[in-house]
Amino acid sequence: MFDKILIANRGEIACRVIKTARRMGIATVAVYSDADRDALHVEMADEAIHIGPAAAGESYLVAEKIVDACRKTGAQAVHPGYGFLSERASFCEALEREGIIFIGPKPKAIRAMGDKIESKKFANAAKVSTVPGHLGVIDDAEQAETIADAIGYPVMIKASAGGGGKGMRIAWSRQEVRDGFDRARSEAQNSFGDDRVFIEKYIVDPRHIEIQILADAHGNIVYLGERECSIQRRNQKVAEEAPSPFLDEATRAAMGEQSVALARAVDYQSAGTVEFIVDRDRNFYFLEMNTRLQVEHPVTELVTGIDLVEQMIRVAAGERLPFAQTDITLNGWAVESRIYAEDPYRNFLPSIGRLTRYRPPAEGKAGNAIIRNDTGVFEGAEISMHYDPMIAKLCTWAPTRIEAIEAMGQALDGFVVDGIEHNVPFLAALMKHPRWRAGKISTSFIAEEYPDGFAPVLPDARQTAFLAAIALSASLIDANRREQFADRLRPATDPLRDLWSVRLGDEYIDVRLLDGLVTIPFDMEMEISGETLSVVTDWRPGDPVWHGKIGKQRITAQLRPILNGMRLDWQGLSVKAKVLTPRHAELDRLMPVKLPPDTSKLLLCPMPGLVVSISVVEGQQVKAGETLAVVEAMKMENVLRAERDLTVGVINAKPGESLAVDAVIMEFA
Ligand code: ADP
Ligand code: ADP
Ligand code: MG
Repeated sequence: MFDKILIANRGEIACRVIKTARRMGIATVAVYSDADRDALHVEMADEAIHIGPAAAGESYLVAEKIVDACRKTGAQAVHPGYGFLSERASFCEALEREGIIFIGPKPKAIRAMGDKIESKKFANAAKVSTVPGHLGVIDDAEQAETIADAIGYPVMIKASAGGGGKGMRIAWSRQEVRDGFDRARSEAQNSFGDDRVFIEKYIVDPRHIEIQILADAHGNIVYLGERECSIQRRNQKVAEEAPSPFLDEATRAAMGEQSVALARAVDYQSAGTVEFIVDRDRNFYFLEMNTRLQVEHPVTELVTGIDLVEQMIRVAAGERLPFAQTDITLNGWAVESRIYAEDPYRNFLPSIGRLTRYRPPAEGKAGNAIIRNDTGVFEGAEISMHYDPMIAKLCTWAPTRIEAIEAMGQALDGFVVDGIEHNVPFLAALMKHPRWRAGKISTSFIAEEYPDGFAPVLPDARQTAFLAAIALSASLIDANRREQFADRLRPATDPLRDLWSVRLGDEYIDVRLLDGLVTIPFDMEMEISGETLSVVTDWRPGDPVWHGKIGKQRITAQLRPILNGMRLDWQGLSVKAKVLTPRHAELDRLMPVKLPPDTSKLLLCPMPGLVVSISVVEGQQVKAGETLAVVEAMKMENVLRAERDLTVGVINAKPGESLAVDAVIMEFA
């Protein structure tokens, strides 16, 4: 076994690999860029080597720098994580030349599977069922039309070198193939430096189900069941689970056996994932093979009890797999939520900044569930524009699917992230979505259920009653405490009054206190909308998380003080609450409402960024959909288009200027 390994990655995956290495008694070396000097993976590793500037192209992606770091530290092997150099055969070869072991498959397998066209050819030869399509590069639009006609519509034009959900285009007709082909090719060239594209059948409303495999250098290959990753946004995974609620034993075994056959055909060793799409009739089709550890691997670990990173390290050291196919059983259910620094209310635009507060839920047992949180950040850390916006991967395990989903909902409700925008509200709302809970999902789920993006959800009657109870309990505990500590000051609210009105958004909810204690812990019977609820909590003033019980239900919610009240976040809901006496409520209703400013005549900068270009001039008439300006943020160019026909008024911004979020770029006449 190795004494020391280097992890050629950053963020949560570097931390995750270090944890296993440490448990195995292996010393670890981290590498870091300028932007990651204070990162968690650097702190966790036994040693750390600086490898250059923040830009990945000058640090994490430079193979020679990693090889150098190995030389300097005497690391005998390298775990690449995912992304960066994990699927670069030339990197493995550079390591091999130095006698350093790559903890992953051999270059031959990476090459064979790294290219979508080549891997489909291999899959076909290994009798793996592939998406119907043309096995080869397509040269021009004319050939594309002929092939698409033969496959039947709809079809998908795909970049052979594509990855990360990019480089794909759907065409529903011959015309769309003709229009889209050249663009697909130039996009492929721009994104991947490789313009080869191919065409396959577009499977309508499929599920994405993938098989985890594990192989050693002695010809032993097993499959560790499947993961379903159908909850996707723009072909990128958002939430995953294992097993899949859709597979039966026979389909699982067939997919598993074909995956093993494919792995055997390329002399695969280490962990790998064979991705399939599965149609409504459980026909499954090979998509691609990822020759690395996958982002969502923890759900497989939770249901199989196998540490995939440990097995990767052991296989790289030449050990045999310690189990055979018949030893592998799937136990219970696991769900993963990818927590991203992106604003769900603004079409998931990336958000950067400092984590002023970062309090993930406690890991370990929670009732009959298990919580696992793979993270690479800490409170006070910075989410920078240089890398992936993933903050954490929150996983829950439970004996059944619905319990795992419930546990995930609770864990998300208690996941405190302040300082940047994040998708926790979206994920929390997803956990309550009936279609997801019923397992009736497909890769179009998010597009179908949230066609206009994610908007704040409104509470139903029951949620309203619960939110009123939470707000009132917090307010009473607070008032009671204040009365104890400053008995001369008149408390803002009199904790002994029995009639209250809780304002939630624009609604006023009457609450009558029946009997109980306003101390810590708080224990009170309340009557809300004709129903009696008992409310118990040990919340203390200042806690961002409210844990407690309302009726028989365990509740975790978040509570932040705001001017004259508090903001409550729970189950994807976010509401402002104000606790009032009935008289105050009466007066409150008379207060003039401050309308939000009318921004329909302004083009606002949707995120902090750099103005790349202004495409119009003052006084110009513009049609809906035309480009007004281009703003760059987080290495992405965002084209801002006219939402309706309009006339341009004053232009305030110039190309080259850095703008804050909501800065006025131009006004409309
Ligand atoms: P998984 O299939 O493991 O869920 P993703 O497709 O989400 O993984 O990608 C995993 C990581 O690899 C991400 O950080 C993603 O940005 C990166 N990645 C995947 N393919 C490519 C590619 N072709 N080029 C650049 N980065 C990629
Ligand atoms: P990447 O390398 O970017 O991960 P994949 O080929 O794995 O690319 O596809 C990513 C996602 O795109 C799939 O999970 C699926 O949602 C969608 N997709 C890809 N190919 C097809 C297809 N032929 N029909 C329907 N959806 C597809
Ligand atoms: Mg994929």
